[in-house]
Amino acid sequence: MHIVWFKKDLRLRDHAPLCEALAGEEQVMLVYIFEPSVQAYPDYSWRHAQFQYFSIQEMNKELEKHGAKVHIFYGEAQDVFTYLCEAFEVKGVFSHQETGNKLTYDRDKLMASFFKQKDISWHEYQTNGVQRGRQDRKGWSEAWQDYMQMPLQNPDLSKLQVLDFEVPVDFWATYTHQKKFKEYPSKYQPAGEAKAWQYLKSFFSKRAQGYMKHISEPEASRQHCSRLSPYLAWGNLSSRQVYQYYRSKVEKSPYKRNLEAFMARLCWRCHFVQKFEMEDRYEFEHLNRGYATLEQPLHLAYLEAWRAGKTGYPIVDACMRCVIATGYLNFRMRAMLVSFLTQILWQPWQSGVHHLAKYFLDYEVGIHYCQFQMQAGVLGTNIIRTYNPVKQSQEQDAQGVFIRQWLPELSSLPTALLHEPWKMTVMEQEMYHCKLGTNYPAPIVEYKSAMKKAAEILWAYRKLPEVLEENKRILYKHVQFSIKDEQEAN
Ligand SMILES: Cc1cc2nc3c(=O)[nH]c(=O)nc-3n(C[C@H](O)[C@H](O)[C@H](O)COP(=O)(O)OP(=O)(O)OC[C@H]3O[C@@H](n4cnc5c(N)ncnc54)[C@H](O)[C@@H]3O)c2cc1C
Repeated sequence: MHIVWFKKDLRLRDHAPLCEALAGEEQVMLVYIFEPSVQAYPDYSWRHAQFQYFSIQEMNKELEKHGAKVHIFYGEAQDVFTYLCEAFEVKGVFSHQETGNKLTYDRDKLMASFFKQKDISWHEYQTNGVQRGRQDRKGWSEAWQDYMQMPLQNPDLSKLQVLDFEVPVDFWATYTHQKKFKEYPSKYQPAGEAKAWQYLKSFFSKRAQGYMKHISEPEASRQHCSRLSPYLAWGNLSSRQVYQYYRSKVEKSPYKRNLEAFMARLCWRCHFVQKFEMEDRYEFEHLNRGYATLEQPLHLAYLEAWRAGKTGYPIVDACMRCVIATGYLNFRMRAMLVSFLTQILWQPWQSGVHHLAKYFLDYEVGIHYCQFQMQAGVLGTNIIRTYNPVKQSQEQDAQGVFIRQWLPELSSLPTALLHEPWKMTVMEQEMYHCKLGTNYPAPIVEYKSAMKKAAEILWAYRKLPEVLEENKRILYKHVQFSIKDEQEAN
């Protein structure tokens, strides 16, 4: 028996492990495991599980034609494989390499020794051009290009055989959280391979027209950005599929410039994941060790207000409430949320990193931790950006459409006041039925002086010898493509 262990690769095309498993003579079983320890980890949330579950359901619809399905287990990976090894003569396990958090990294080390002990060969395949075992970036871009141009690994599903097997009760039926999988919540982006292709095609054929123009606006970006991020994060699409689709369309597209900007971001994606693959300690600590002495004492009331979208800064609060409700926010607004937390409220990035990880439907560990530290201004290698929440509001939501949608308590305010409600007179508060401190909070801190103070400390830190020393190390290890590219991804 060969087992294909699906992880963050929930698709049936361009899937090397599935291809290879089906190329042999052995019967093939398809397995997905919901692991209690993974679900208990602080970056996890049910919306991730729902996206995974419904992606698998869609795969199963197609697999049904071949009399097959992905068998879903609930249990720790080692327990599930112990059971499978007792029930079947397992000769090989096939999966993609996973760049995950500390927990999944340790689980994979444990499983490697488990398979070795059982004399089972574990075939792991490269994911999205991310290269395992690298010490630096020499030749990385070239190898990435080669990977992207390789033929798609499309499996011959007709080779699947009917398998007379049901997952035992203890590994699924007793899973009490199954009720969460009754229906996929319509407020999130729909899951699965077919939807992923639908989004990809509609972006290339139409939506990309306004890509760069609207990329920073919280409302219009929802339509004009590709919105491929959850499909790439959970593997409904591979980067290679997107890359090859792009190559087939870009030259004749009227939106060539926009598509080129999109492709640069797809490459950044792999760059960031590669970075985490090579130095995963920054899940917990500063990538640039020079910032270890930076003091940012926890202020629970600030944290609570930020997490709940009740800081008194409308654009910040609208963004937070939007991401809690829908799972999506564009890049600029994500950056602004983090800059507000870490620079204006002066809180450590660690205090917010799990909160947003849970709410982002597209949570990708490799991008998330690096971007969080970048926007907190503690990487040392990048320009420090402190986003002014009033300026962002006036520029990116000029008419206040987004704010009105997510903060109904402010909806009757005229647009000028919507960006700065603290400027309302008592009479205006009466007139617009919005009393500051009652219907909507007064600003939690005064932003201009907070921004100034943060900038002073962070710019002084950048000059410290230990920060500069670490910069050199980081650039050598992680940035083979030009520093200009790294700056642009900020
Ligand atoms: C603090 C913070 C946390 C973030 N966390 C995540 C995360 O957990 N998962 C995630 O996928 N993205 C994350 N991003 C990056 C970016 O915001 C999202 O990828 C993007 O908004 C997704 O929307 P889209 O698919 O329409 O992007 P598009 O603009 O259409 O880009 C296409 C693809 O390129 C990749 N991409 C885009 N921008 C970036 C970037 N700056 N860095 C790396 N890859 C990029 C994504 O895979 C995206 O789907 C984060 C950004 C910040 C500032």
